[in-house]
Amino acid sequence: MRPPPTPRAVRAARALTMVPGDAPLDDAALILAGRRILDVGPARRVLAGFHGPVDDLGDVVLVPGLVNAHAHLELSHLRGQAPPPAGFCAWAGWLFAAARDTAPPDVLAAAVAEVAGTGTAAVIDVAGRAGAAVARALRAAGLSGLVCREILGRRAGVSLDLPPQLADAAGDGVAATVCGHALYSTAPELLRRARAVCREHGTPFSLHLAEHAGEMELFTTGRGEFAAMLAGRLLPKGWQPPGRSPVAEAAAQGLLGPDTLAVHVVSLAPGDLDILARSEVTACLCPRSNVRIGVGVADAPALAAAGVRLALGTDSLASNDDLNLWNEARALFTAHPELPGRAVLEALTVNPARLLGRDDLGRLAPGSVGGWAVLPADLAQRLA
Ligand SMILES: [Zn+2]
Repeated sequence: MRPPPTPRAVRAARALTMVPGDAPLDDAALILAGRRILDVGPARRVLAGFHGPVDDLGDVVLVPGLVNAHAHLELSHLRGQAPPPAGFCAWAGWLFAAARDTAPPDVLAAAVAEVAGTGTAAVIDVAGRAGAAVARALRAAGLSGLVCREILGRRAGVSLDLPPQLADAAGDGVAATVCGHALYSTAPELLRRARAVCREHGTPFSLHLAEHAGEMELFTTGRGEFAAMLAGRLLPKGWQPPGRSPVAEAAAQGLLGPDTLAVHVVSLAPGDLDILARSEVTACLCPRSNVRIGVGVADAPALAAAGVRLALGTDSLASNDDLNLWNEARALFTAHPELPGRAVLEALTVNPARLLGRDDLGRLAPGSVGGWAVLPADLAQRLA
């Protein structure tokens, strides 16, 4: 057992605790042991009687350590290699050839260090093959999160048990579970069972959903470039389109609920906003990945206005330039300058923490293990 870290304090001009009902704290201080928050409040009170080291950060705004709600850290070795944006089929074709192996340990450790160094305290990661290595890398860096073994394919009756290596690698605030890849790539029976396994684990159920227009075309008409790409590969012989949008199809398969993390939701049909809002899913937006692949961006203001809870994810370095979640927020504001700052700050903190069922993340409060982040100066005006 490692000895507990010595308590340290940080002081800043302002802190946003993200605890419902809390007003912004001026001249704030936190006492922490590692990333665990022991106390938070006005510096005058918190620092009275505290004799440990104090880092005075000056005129900055502290927020809770962020939660990256969608990543594939095992693809971190593909940084900088994606082709220019040319649509989903071109990107998927490239990835299929490029992702023969997974990130080696040093690349994984560097990716996790980048995540931690840019203010992120927890990651919801989707792993095809290297989930155990990802869980170990997160733990080694003192980060929290959830590593989801991605279920893909159509083999009925396949075991959804966690691989023993992944189950063993979890711990210290890093949980492990399963997730579905997408409606077009994972059989309905497996998606249904995967969600049931998530419920047993008490974890959210993550699914890529409505990422691009080709997915919409596939499910509504069965035609198009994407349908042609999948025919005879991921789609079984004789597959018939359900004649409704991916979101409507996910709802019909009983996959949407307050435990669902619907990733992307770029391509929506009329009525889909309503379905997402009523089912109380959390929608994870990955705007830079969507732009990098060339599929447009999700209509974040419409989702927020409909009452859909939002989260933000970097997705992987196979479709993004870095793992800095602040850059995701910047991209979101570039695409949607009218988006309320509070909605974005909630998407980075409390919303994904709530989805994870973790009241020890996404808030500056005693007992939190997510530590703090400094709001970058260019975003402070929008978010504070
Ligand atoms: Zn993804």
